[in-house]
Amino acid sequence: MDVLQTLDSLHDAWVEAALAALAQGEATRMGLRPQLERFYELLRQAVSSNDPAWLDSIVYLWVWSQTVTDLDSQEINVAEALQHLIEATMQVARQHLTDGENLEFITALMPYWLHMLEYAANQEMRAQLDHTTSELERVQRELERLDKSKSDFISVAAHELKTPLTLVEGYAAMLRDVLTHAPEDVRAQASPFLEGIDRGSKRIREIVDDLVDVSLLDNDMLKLSFQPVWLGQIFRSLTDELAPVLEERRLTLKVHRFPGSERLIFGDVERLQQVFRNLLTNAIKYTPDGGRITVDGRLLPGFVEVWVADTGIGIAPEDQRIIFDKFGRLGDPQTHSSGKTRFKGGGPGLGLAIARGIVEAHGGSIWVESPGYDEEKCPGSIFHVLLPLREAPPDEAGKSGIFSKLAAYLKKGE
Ligand code: ADP
Repeated sequence: MDVLQTLDSLHDAWVEAALAALAQGEATRMGLRPQLERFYELLRQAVSSNDPAWLDSIVYLWVWSQTVTDLDSQEINVAEALQHLIEATMQVARQHLTDGENLEFITALMPYWLHMLEYAANQEMRAQLDHTTSELERVQRELERLDKSKSDFISVAAHELKTPLTLVEGYAAMLRDVLTHAPEDVRAQASPFLEGIDRGSKRIREIVDDLVDVSLLDNDMLKLSFQPVWLGQIFRSLTDELAPVLEERRLTLKVHRFPGSERLIFGDVERLQQVFRNLLTNAIKYTPDGGRITVDGRLLPGFVEVWVADTGIGIAPEDQRIIFDKFGRLGDPQTHSSGKTRFKGGGPGLGLAIARGIVEAHGGSIWVESPGYDEEKCPGSIFHVLLPLREAPPDEAGKSGIFSKLAAYLKKGE
């Protein structure tokens, strides 16, 4: 008997054995039977034409008709099913053929099995890859949607809070005016209340301003006003501004006169001051009383690098990227103490996101280095800011860049 005749003779027994090997319930068997009949037919054609590729179409169909649940299981379902079919074939051949015929039959079928398994594994890998890619795209779209609703919410909240806050500030100012004409004892009584309102509204104003900045950054609407800037000047003014807090918290702030600190660069003074204010207030917030904060820097080709180092609680390596995302504050919000400069006084987690947005809008970058987080040993953190050394505002720099290139080109052509 040749292989084709053997295949024909084993057909009925094979279908039953294959059904038993693959399916559990009767209903599934009914659905499977035509598939297996077709498979056997294709195997027969492959053998008769000596071309294993005849089997590809059905294997392809099986692989690509897998459900999302099958694909989610990340198992090689079809290749495994094919192995069951191979086992069923061997079992039927053993039962119905002599040892010699059996050996000949199985050897003849071997190349077809190998081709089929390889093709199935290949297709399954592709199907898994396609599935994983589309899953990733779905998750990405979902994240983008969530991020969009988050930034919409921030923008709405910021604008909705601004109006009543302006009202509170306005009425507080009017009340203060009225009280200047009031008798001394009334003024003395009212003064702490007014201070309380002032403190509270100032804090809300800071948060609302941060929310507005984040929403500007989210929508690519942050406008920089480039002017001549001296970094040393910025740090002198911040040192004065923060002196009372530093004293209260018994922290020393040492600002070095570093190469580049007195050099004129172009940038948005207010915004750069905001960046370094955020870094310094963070250094204050996350350094226990009595600690040290140091500002230093250096000149690099085309850039000036500034770093703010503290002797505070430090930041775990896995958090060193997250903190620059909006709301990227660490730890349990419930355990944060309130206040902008108190030790571990938590904010909404926007300061570094804003700092990164401003620095990047200047064409620079910002990052942190810290050995890790440890409230006992206080390993400290170093925040680095790299800013381009601009000799003119970007537009003019761009123009002069083109002109000087053009001039150089014309000169070369002479
Ligand atoms: P927050 O308003 O919470 O201070 P930031 O965006 O300024 O928000 O900082 C994000 C988080 O980064 C903080 O909650 C804090 O966990 C961590 N962090 C920032 N600066 C420091 C620092 N100098 N030392 C330790 N942790 C810091």
